[in-house]
Amino acid sequence: MSLRPTVDFLLHDWLNVAELQQRERFADHSRETFDAVLDTCERIAREKYAPFNRLVDTEEPKFDGEKVILPQASHEACKAYAESGMLSAAQDYAMGGMQLPYTVEAAANAFFAMASVSIGSGMLTTGNANLLMAHGTELQKQVFALNEFNGRFSGTMCLSEPQAGSSLSDVATRAVPDGADFLSDPLGPRYRLRGNKMWISSGEHELTENIIHLVLAKIPDAQGQLVPGVKGISLFIVPKKLVGTDGQLTGQRNDVALAGLNHKCGWRGTTNTLLNFGEGKYPVASPGSGQAQPGAIGYLVGQPGEGLRCMFHMMNEARIGVGMAATMLGMAGYYASLDYARNRPQGRPMTAAGKNPASSQVRIIEHADIKRMLLAQKSYSEGALALALCCARLVDEQHTGTPESANEARLLLEVPTPIVKSFPSEWCLEANSLAIQIHGGYGYTRDFPVEQYWRDNRLNMIHEGTHGIQAMDLLGRKVLMENGQGLKLLAARMQATIAKASPEWQAEARQLANALQQVGSATQAAWQGAEPAQALANAVPYLQAFGHTVVAWIWLDVVQIATGDDPANVGRRAAARYFYRYELPKIGAWLQVVSSRDSTCADVPEDAF
Ligand SMILES: Cc1cc2nc3c(=O)[nH]c(=O)nc-3n(C[C@H](O)[C@H](O)[C@H](O)COP(=O)(O)OP(=O)(O)OC[C@H]3O[C@@H](n4cnc5c(N)ncnc54)[C@H](O)[C@@H]3O)c2cc1C
Repeated sequence: MSLRPTVDFLLHDWLNVAELQQRERFADHSRETFDAVLDTCERIAREKYAPFNRLVDTEEPKFDGEKVILPQASHEACKAYAESGMLSAAQDYAMGGMQLPYTVEAAANAFFAMASVSIGSGMLTTGNANLLMAHGTELQKQVFALNEFNGRFSGTMCLSEPQAGSSLSDVATRAVPDGADFLSDPLGPRYRLRGNKMWISSGEHELTENIIHLVLAKIPDAQGQLVPGVKGISLFIVPKKLVGTDGQLTGQRNDVALAGLNHKCGWRGTTNTLLNFGEGKYPVASPGSGQAQPGAIGYLVGQPGEGLRCMFHMMNEARIGVGMAATMLGMAGYYASLDYARNRPQGRPMTAAGKNPASSQVRIIEHADIKRMLLAQKSYSEGALALALCCARLVDEQHTGTPESANEARLLLEVPTPIVKSFPSEWCLEANSLAIQIHGGYGYTRDFPVEQYWRDNRLNMIHEGTHGIQAMDLLGRKVLMENGQGLKLLAARMQATIAKASPEWQAEARQLANALQQVGSATQAAWQGAEPAQALANAVPYLQAFGHTVVAWIWLDVVQIATGDDPANVGRRAAARYFYRYELPKIGAWLQVVSSRDSTCADVPEDAF
């Protein structure tokens, strides 16, 4: 079994992406063009990514005092990805793009994530350029976004600071107007930035001609004070090397310096950096002035104070992207452990007469417990993949549907977005742990790939909003927003699946209806007359229960078309049944503490630990 048939089944048989070809934007596309994109990505991932996954793990990025050195394989992977056109796949033809539906783009990127999740920085570059397409000026788009789409430049997202991770309102990087003529720079209002950005992925390297940092910083008020809270945060383009209005490098280095590389548990193919902005390591002159001075030159994007809003405009795609990366690592571990289980002889079957030591050993895939661990991985990873593609399809609906269906898709997306990020981050990580378990002692060594998958996947519960932050977003905001409309729409979609369930799936349909009802009651009970701190104290168990309910829904929907004796469909039905029998019942325990607003954790005094 390989990934491609699963992707094809989900895209075509389940989500019917061909429907999108009716839309004007996608009218030039066909099954053939979609297949060609998937074929190309599958091939590049197989040739340029997979063979080097271990190499980028063992040969971590190094700093020689001047440059960050990455293996040659990273340069070649990055070049092949850019040449494939995937950086601008969803863009207009006029921008050199393919006007590919986001659903197909997300599916195509899955091959790279499975082959080597950390080798490239394509997702960040595309996210950065897409943000500029949404909020930048025409010239910012031409000079920066276009050159990111064509692979000359790469992009970063600089939000976090040493003292401001989850709490971005505490960002302390300052941006002050650069000279009296700061408003008349053709690239946008020009500022000087000073501050430190922590954890910046792909913050320094030689993979591309230039690096375009998108930086959150605060513009001080008239008294020189930083405005507290998120409202004071603005967004700036800070290129590593200054660029002219023609998109060519001016030859001047901007005042952005690498303070150090972070040495990570996994995901080691991507550099991770502490960057100093404006500390004077590379003093730089403002245009028209010969005097070089400290301070990183940055160009405002959008309006002052709108930085976080601009950044979070891309939130849905960013969370789908992280969820997809976690999912594909889960899938990689599943395939590796399946292969191992099919080949490893160990143990003998237990019969009524005991074990026969004279018989040959069986392959471990014949043991029920190994099958349990394989089915768990399959149910998490394939369920998460279906969920991510379903959310990607809603993004396409939001961008190209009729006004009513676009608005419905927008609302509908809000609720599962924290889940599409957090479910795979938690449960596909658990899948990686089970993949190690299936390998026994061998899984705990570097001779097999599964320990690296686990280490790589461990990041996903931390970045792009930690698990706890996603949980508070879900229970504290998403299920309540616009009078709970998003939640109601999602519940209606689940009810529709329940209503169409075939006779074979009636028990599961009833179980899902019951789970949905439990989630609804727990949501109400959590908030009934409660202070936010009480309601949110058990937000993570709520997220877990909600996530399991959503994935149970996805599985019930998928298996309605997974009929017949084809082994792939037999496998899908087994994974769905596993999820209903072994996983969904867990929600009772999770929701119990939510509904009763259990305060065991919240109340424990610090000195009792
Ligand atoms: C490998 C890697 C790559 C990254 N890449 C980037 C990048 O490219 N750009 C970028 O800007 N950032 C990046 N990050 C930063 C990442 O987004 C942050 O690590 C993350 O937001 C958490 O911030 P923190 O590490 O400061 O942890 P903290 O915010 O200090 O959180 C620590 C713990 O406290 C919990 N916590 C925090 N606040 C609350 C609260 N109010 N209520 C309950 N619990 C709370 C958190 O859930 C977490 O468990 C990256 C991080 C890593 C590790």
